[in-house]
Order: sequence, then structure tokens, then C-alpha cells
Amino acid sequence: LNTYYENEEDYIFVMSNDGICKVHAEPEMIDSDITGTFNHDGRNLHDMFVETSKEDEGGFVSYTYNKLDEATVLEKISYTIALDDWDAYLAMGFYTEDLIEVNDLNEHELELQNSKENFIVTIGLTIVIILVLLLIRKGSYLQSELMKQEEAIFSELLKQVTEGIVIMGERKVLYANDKAVTLFGHHVEDTFNRGIEYLKNNDDVYELENENATYYVEISKKNLQYKGIDSEMYLAKNITNTYLQAHNYQRISMIDELSGLQNRRALIRDFTEESTNETCKRVIGLIDLDFFKNVNDSYGHERGDDIIIDLGELFTNRLRKTDKFYRYGGEEFVVSFMNISIIEAKEVLDNLNEEMKQMSLEKYGFKQTFSGGIVSLQKDDSIDLDGYISKADKLMYQAKLKGRNRIEFELDSDNT
Ligand code: GH3
Ligand code: MG
Ligand code: MG
Repeated sequence: LNTYYENEEDYIFVMSNDGICKVHAEPEMIDSDITGTFNHDGRNLHDMFVETSKEDEGGFVSYTYNKLDEATVLEKISYTIALDDWDAYLAMGFYTEDLIEVNDLNEHELELQNSKENFIVTIGLTIVIILVLLLIRKGSYLQSELMKQEEAIFSELLKQVTEGIVIMGERKVLYANDKAVTLFGHHVEDTFNRGIEYLKNNDDVYELENENATYYVEISKKNLQYKGIDSEMYLAKNITNTYLQAHNYQRISMIDELSGLQNRRALIRDFTEESTNETCKRVIGLIDLDFFKNVNDSYGHERGDDIIIDLGELFTNRLRKTDKFYRYGGEEFVVSFMNISIIEAKEVLDNLNEEMKQMSLEKYGFKQTFSGGIVSLQKDDSIDLDGYISKADKLMYQAKLKGRNRIEFELDSDNT
């Protein structure tokens, strides 16, 4: 140990328990007696070492000491432990100053290392961020490509559908397909801004008239988000053909095939539609051809048909536009007069009866007459068609009893 530690600043020393130095970095210390050496606070150094070295696992002794070549008193810390089976202890230590120096050096190195590490971490993070940004850009590019494709598919679909599609948001037309432009015309936006309800007709069907044609359209509405805007989508289904067909059927079903006159169904419709609180005077009458069975029997059924047609034409030509004439069934007819007194109505029918007689005589060689009963309509809230018809029927029956070829009537309360 002496050889090894000679002139070394780091030191190690072995002391016999009676204070004689056995090993030391400073050769001249060997064999010297340190029992006379005191710490600056007056404690005996040797006693401090012996005491501490005898602790279980030894211990640290902090003391002051002079370096050989320096006059200054230096602080030292030594670890000391008793040597088993020796009457001695081993101690090793350092100058506190050296420790601080080493510590400073280490701290400096640590700082350097830290800044290096920081630099590497920063570079690493930057690379990662760049990679992530690149990935995000690539992702959003792919997403926008997908959205473009999706939009293309949808706009193609919207073009192809047979319904007109209009999307309204923030009081503007955000989208209208070609079909919608065909149906609503080029002023789609104006139409929708006015509210489309005014286009609805009695059948709850929208009647769209534009430059070229009239369209009958069913419209359904759905709320949705369009390009982030609260919107309403209108689906307009063109039902023009079926609508007109249905109307045609309805029209046909109201017309008597033989005479072309309106039939009983039309009469019922008219009296349900024309309702209430009619202020004008109205007269309704039932007309029945006289001895018509005989006509069929004597001149044939076809001649009978001709008579029915002739009567229809006569009434249609002579009556005013506001009056109506219906084939009620068989050889019975209903006449409806507007704005007329019962006396005036009777006169009109008497004249028509006369004309019919003349006409049939000229055409077929016999006088065809009719009988009828007429009643005034009361200014009731509701028009009881059946009630008036059965009244008129009773009067008509009286006309038959009284010899036919005449009109019976009942004077109403004001004798008109
Ligand atoms: P009345 O003066 O009492 O009315 O005698 P009428 O013969 O006219 O009375 P009736 O009700 O007994 O006969 C009506 C006839 O009208 C019977 C039917 O053959 C005939 N008739 C009903 N509809 C038609 C039709 O469409 N064409 C023809 N040719 N005859 C019809
Ligand atoms: Mg009859
Ligand atoms: Mg008859």
C-alpha cells in the first residue's frame, strides 16, 4: 500500500490503535505517532478515528488537516474502519475542496450532456411532428378525395332521380336539380320564397304553371343539414298524367253517355258544393217525358233515345249559363234555375214544352211533351236535395194526373 500510494493526493492510511502510523501517502508520516495531533477545535484526531472505526461498520470522520506543501488548513472527510484481527484501523478519504471541484466538474459535464440530449430530443420531436403533419395532410387529402367522389355520386343521383329536388336554407335556394327547374320554372327561388302553399289546389295537389305547361305535383318536405346549414329539402313528384287521368275519369263519371248531359252524380256534387246562404232565388224541378213507353213501343227504342238527346240539346241551348239541366235517370230530368221566381221558371218550362212539341212533330211526326213539378229553394243553411226532389216529384205526379204536358208548382211564402 505504501508503495502504491506514495505521493498520491488521494490517500489511504493504516494506524495502529496506539497511534503509530503504519501506512501513509506521505512517506515521512510512517512510524510517526499522531496521538499528539489535534483538530482545530481541540479534539484529539487519533481518539476520533479509534472511536469511529470501532463502530459496527466504521464511519466518517470530518476534521481539518494541513497538506504537506500548503500552509492552509484544509477540511477533510475520512472513512475509517477497524481492521479485524489487527490492532489497527484503516482510513481513507479526501479533501472536501477536491470533492466540490469534482462535483462542479460533474455538474458541468452533466449540463453539457443534458444540452446534447435536449438537442437530440428536440430534433427527434421536430421530426416526429413533421411526420405527423405529413400524415395528417395525406389523410385529409384522401378524405377530401373521398368526399369529392361521394359528392359526385350524390349530384349524379340527384340529377337522375325523377323527382324535382329543391333545398332551401337561410331563405335561399341552395340546390335545385334540373327536374325541379323543369317543374317550377326558372324562378324557383321566387316561388319558394313566396311559400309554395298558394300553389295548392282543392285536391291538395300543387299546380305549377310555367311558360310551357301546367304540372300537377305532390310535394313532401324534410328537414336536413345541407353543407352545415339548417335546410329543408322539397321532393316534388310529377303526377300530372295520373292526376289528369283521374280527373278525366271523374269528369266522365259525371256525364250521361247517351245525352251528354250531366247525370245524377253531378247533380249531387253540385248541390253539395254549392252550399249555403245562397241569397238569390232558386227553383228546382223534376221533368218526366209523357207516355214515353208508348214512344218506345210505337217508334222503337232508338227513336226514344233520339227524343232524350233532343230534349237535352233543347234545354242546354235555351237555358241560361247559370241554369243547369241533368239527366236524373231514364226519361226523368232535373232542371235547376238561378235567380228566378217560380212563376218565371214555370213560363220558361211551358215555352220549352211547346218547342219540344213542335220540334218532335217536325222531326218524327208526333208531339212529344213532358210534365214537371217545380219548387223554390228556401234560404236554408243546407240544401236538402232529396227533400226538394221528392216535393217536385209529387208535383210532377199531380201534373200527370191533371193530364200531362204541364208544370205544377207550389207558391212559396212570398208568393213568388
Ligand atoms: P208517363 O207519362 O206516366 O211518364 O208514362 P211513361 O210511359 O213515360 O212512364 P213509364 O215510367 O211507365 O215509362 C218510362 C219509360 O221510359 C220506360 C223505359 O223503357 C223508357 N226509358 C227509360 N230510359 C230510356 C232510354 O234511355 N231510352 C229509351 N228509348 N227509353 C227509355
Ligand atoms: Mg218516368
Ligand atoms: Mg214518363
